[in-house]
Amino acid sequence: MPDRVYIFDTTLRDGEQSPGCSMTVPEKVRMAAKLVDLGVDILEAGFPIASEGDSEAVDAVSREYPWAHVAALARANRLDVMAAVKSLRNARRPRIHTFIATSDIHLKYKLKKSRQQVLDDAVAAVSLAREYCEDVEFSAEDATRTDLDYLEEVCKAVVAAGARTVNLPDTVGFSVPDEYGALIGRMVKALGDSAVVSVHCHDDLGLAVANSLAAVQNGARQVECTINGIGERAGNAALEEVVMAINTRRDRLPFETRIVTEHLFPASQLLTSIITFGPQPNKAIVGENAFAHEAGIHQDGFLKERTTYEIMEPRSVGVPESKLVLGKHSGRHALAKRCEDLGFPLTREQLDAVYHRFTALADRKKGLRNEEIAAIAREVLTESKSTVGATD
Ligand code: MN
Repeated sequence: MPDRVYIFDTTLRDGEQSPGCSMTVPEKVRMAAKLVDLGVDILEAGFPIASEGDSEAVDAVSREYPWAHVAALARANRLDVMAAVKSLRNARRPRIHTFIATSDIHLKYKLKKSRQQVLDDAVAAVSLAREYCEDVEFSAEDATRTDLDYLEEVCKAVVAAGARTVNLPDTVGFSVPDEYGALIGRMVKALGDSAVVSVHCHDDLGLAVANSLAAVQNGARQVECTINGIGERAGNAALEEVVMAINTRRDRLPFETRIVTEHLFPASQLLTSIITFGPQPNKAIVGENAFAHEAGIHQDGFLKERTTYEIMEPRSVGVPESKLVLGKHSGRHALAKRCEDLGFPLTREQLDAVYHRFTALADRKKGLRNEEIAAIAREVLTESKSTVGATD
């Protein structure tokens, strides 16, 4: 199936290694359960050489979910690869993910190695990994700042050594969509059917999802991403955004993933409960306001026909329902609906009175709670009853 896009989740690896996101082994296992429900294709569970905990987590996740494809990260050297091999010993579908930086800036200042040395290390690591594991992925770290001829040479060499997936990360979130799309298109062409081209984008310029989609449009068939977009610095491409962009705009993005989208919001919520922060309220798909409407014109349109202001069904991503937030920008229509939902059907005159008091209060507050709205409605209904009584 050429149009199938594999979702490689790295919430438990790249996500976990960022500030405020570290997880214990049991927490990783709990999160992995949700990622399995979600239907991610590959689950990167850790970087075994980095810590005992990471190594244990890879093992625990592989034993708990034997049918999941579990990946372990390793730098391109013997010690790292062997640590990955060891942590994956109980996995039925193991993947060794080995990487080395290929950009001149990393070669000169970080690795202090020549291009030839890096090429040799990459090939040696892939060959070693292939002795233990059929499924080997190679990443050219900082691919987007790498000389393209050299990058192509590295890609071809690691595939010849047995890598089945070649990942070309925008490690520092520097690329822009047309540029990244062109880089991916060139490597896809160079590799043909010999490997799956993968992408891994960071969000330093807020372009991680846009870059990932440009890559898919140019032939990439694996996207590395995380729940809530957590990850190093500004984070990785958000899994929920990549998946819902593809699902919502199939007319422009004729691709398919196996993600069970109804689990997106629950996965986001679970992650939030494990790490130290949640997505910002206006975060796409899973933020608290992603399906909330406050402006009167929007609420009125939404109540007449949902699709006037919503491009996705909240339930399709596991959000229970759209929220009409009643604040100073709200109109009568939404207020009448809320009062009715709260058990106070109002006449036109009563609604006018409630609306008057509501706007006076809303001017001073950021949004009104149901109890406050109910109190106003009750007040107005009591008053209008006594008025009616007086004229009797
Ligand atoms: Mn990364």
